[in-house]
Amino acid sequence: MPEFATKTQAKTFWKKVVNELEVNRDSATFGTLLPNITPKQMGGKELVIACENKFIKNTLEKNIGPIQKAANKAAQSDIEIKIIIEKGNKKLEPDTGKLGPLFGPKTNPKKILRDKQERSGLYPKYIFENYVLGQSNRLAFAVAKAVVQKPGEVYNPVFLHSGVGLGKTHLMQAIGNEILKEKPGTKVVYTTSENFTNELIEAIQSGKGRGKYTSNKFRNKFRKADILLIDDVQFIIGRGATQEEFFHTFNALFMAQKQIVITSDRPPQDFEKLPDRITSRFRSGIIVDIQIPVLETRVAILRNKRDANRDPINNDIIDYIAENVDANIRELEGAYLQVLTLAQTENIEITKKIAAEKLGKTIREKTTKNLNMNQILKAVCTYYSVKSVEIKGKKRTKDLVLPRQVAMYLIKTMTETPFMTIGDFLGGRDHTTIMYGVEKIGEKADHLGKMRQDITNVKQMLYVD
Ligand code: ADP
Ligand code: MG
Repeated sequence: MPEFATKTQAKTFWKKVVNELEVNRDSATFGTLLPNITPKQMGGKELVIACENKFIKNTLEKNIGPIQKAANKAAQSDIEIKIIIEKGNKKLEPDTGKLGPLFGPKTNPKKILRDKQERSGLYPKYIFENYVLGQSNRLAFAVAKAVVQKPGEVYNPVFLHSGVGLGKTHLMQAIGNEILKEKPGTKVVYTTSENFTNELIEAIQSGKGRGKYTSNKFRNKFRKADILLIDDVQFIIGRGATQEEFFHTFNALFMAQKQIVITSDRPPQDFEKLPDRITSRFRSGIIVDIQIPVLETRVAILRNKRDANRDPINNDIIDYIAENVDANIRELEGAYLQVLTLAQTENIEITKKIAAEKLGKTIREKTTKNLNMNQILKAVCTYYSVKSVEIKGKKRTKDLVLPRQVAMYLIKTMTETPFMTIGDFLGGRDHTTIMYGVEKIGEKADHLGKMRQDITNVKQMLYVD
């Protein structure tokens, strides 16, 4: 196979890997690493990737686990990853091509911007320019733009929530990227709540006499920010010390009129165990959500992507994918990449029939994935912050009845387990109780957007393994 062909394949395959890493919420850990990697070649089971220097190579090797896992998953078989060093190969902007030459003098403004983005934890592909607008995200987009215009002044804090894969991280990072471009002196800090937690733990440990990273340093990093972007705050809520530290940081910045943007998988009022003083702080700014995009927006997103990369995928195929993948944008992109890979590896023109075969397979794989009742119950409990003994117990308070019925509904619809068995599993309940619960949630999901969204969110947790 000619080198350019294997290179295109490597590029597409690498996108799938990155997509996988994002699905698994590792995008922040790798946010600064991934842009430093250039996919070089793909042949058989070997993927060759290049990076700029030994330091990056070492870091990569240390963190290869999740990348390896993502690669294997993307290929649906074991892949051998080979890392090579290629000087001057640092590829700065894989998707938009907007950040200019691959290497140049240190004074190159684009390079300076890129370095700043990297230090802030921002990923250059997440910008306003490639964020497709639709009814589902128009308000969130307008708020984000206003924040860039007047950070800390109009909307503060911004609390952005939606189900997984609907564009929160993209929009939040676009705010950071745009501010760095427009106002280079601004100190932007982006972090996921997982990172925040890890850094805090590290700080506490080293505060006890080990390591270099002191609590002071931790505080300075976050409290000196002009713009603090905290992604997926749901992982902090309810975690004692981390939650406390987060609110100290939050208050310090808020008092100093610094901009805070928070994303979450649910609105503040849905956190059962969040103290009122905190919920009311969140409410003092603006709370916006992003909905699932309608068909036209999904089509626009894929066309945009296709045109930016000049992929050989025609409009009919895009329509087909957009019609059939409607849960969220991340899955939409994943499906698109599957079809694109097929076009490139087989070197064929994709017809609707071929796409259908390819996607039919992924869709089937998802729904028949071997889920057991325990896994589903666990996901429901995590989502609603309740314990499984409580779900199985006798108490019938409102905060237990809903998750209990959601568990009934999901177990029934995802595993087709008999009502009686579900009843036994959920604390020895009668099969009619289970039938009622399943029906009730089904009805709610038909009428209430919120219920549909909650169900999609829990399902998402189950698809990610
Ligand atoms: P979330 O943080 O809500 O889970 P992400 O921001 O990670 O979702 O978005 C998932 C994927 O979908 C990303 O690749 C992102 O670039 C893409 N995406 C989301 N919304 C849009 C949009 N409006 N236009 C274009 N791409 C989008
Ligand atoms: Mg996200």
